[in-house]
Amino acid sequence: MSDTDITVRKTEKLYEGKAKILYATNRPDLLIQHFKDDATAFNGQKKGVIAHKGALNNAISSGIFERMEKEGIHTHFVARMGERDMLVRKVAIIPIEVVVRNIVAGSLAKRLGKPTGMNLSTPVLEFYYKDDKLGDPMINDYHIRAFGLATDEEMAHISGEALRINQWLINFFDSVGVQLVDYKLEFGRTEEGTVLLADEISPDGCRLWDKQSGEIMDKDRFRQDLGRITEAYEEMARRVSGAR
Ligand code: ADP
Ligand code: UDP
Repeated sequence: MSDTDITVRKTEKLYEGKAKILYATNRPDLLIQHFKDDATAFNGQKKGVIAHKGALNNAISSGIFERMEKEGIHTHFVARMGERDMLVRKVAIIPIEVVVRNIVAGSLAKRLGKPTGMNLSTPVLEFYYKDDKLGDPMINDYHIRAFGLATDEEMAHISGEALRINQWLINFFDSVGVQLVDYKLEFGRTEEGTVLLADEISPDGCRLWDKQSGEIMDKDRFRQDLGRITEAYEEMARRVSGAR
């Protein structure tokens, strides 16, 4: 859809989450994701604001989704609408957070007692039940099947897509001097039953390390009070927009 085709406007607010607000539009199949500056960590226990984060994450995520679409990766992205808004296809979010890991960090380092920074010989996929009240517990294919969270066919598709997305994202971030450590993906179903990559891909949900210096360029700067948080997001936005 080109900019001139967009006569879509926000109608009512449907949902306010920790980092984004979802609005209905005058088109039943389209929503607007509004990116906020609010930041949370440790399952909402730490709260704060990262100046300009909403605009930066919209720019980063839109830039990545746009490129993915060109590579035949199907996402909910329709268009970036101004600084903080993204027009997206409406989907029913599958309540599974898909975490993809290339390098040991975060909860994997803790759970398995492995050193942060260790390269994984093959990507690791993990599934978490998307439920803030429960703290997003880890689940496996059997839980997903037993509780009917997704069909086996959908899970085969999601796992395949996650690995294909991972290969594309590793190469993309590498081309802008960044190591893709780990990240979270969400998928959703359209009314016709097609499964699309949804939500966002930004430093809020990815661990990104500068290839040369090893500097942390993601929300871990907020989690660990490392300072220069907006600067890191700005640098990521600059690199994504400048990527070839
Ligand atoms: P949270 O719900 O974890 O606080 P956010 O603040 O990011 O997270 O809120 C955005 C919400 O919108 C998320 O729950 C996400 O699953 C949902 N979402 C993302 N993309 C779509 C979409 N295309 N259609 C419907 N819901 C979506
Ligand atoms: N992640 C996320 N949302 C969540 C949980 C994890 O975006 O609710 C991302 C997180 O930013 C990291 C990856 O998924 O890039 C793996 O997170 P991990 O399991 O290590 O948890 P953490 O230690 O970050 O809580």
